[in-house]
Amino acid sequence: MRDRITLKCSECGEENYINTRNKKTQTERMAVKKYCPRCNAKTLHKEKK
Ligand SMILES: [Zn+2]
Repeated sequence: MRDRITLKCSECGEENYINTRNKKTQTERMAVKKYCPRCNAKTLHKEKK
């Protein structure tokens, strides 16, 4: 079963990336450094609840 997750910029709150993950293999919350167009910089993106 795959879950859709949203990656949200921790700086401005913009939702920039949508991902899928396998619940069985990936149980931890995702937090990745990705480019945010609104901040115009690489920021930490966290998984939205
Ligand atoms: Zn941002």
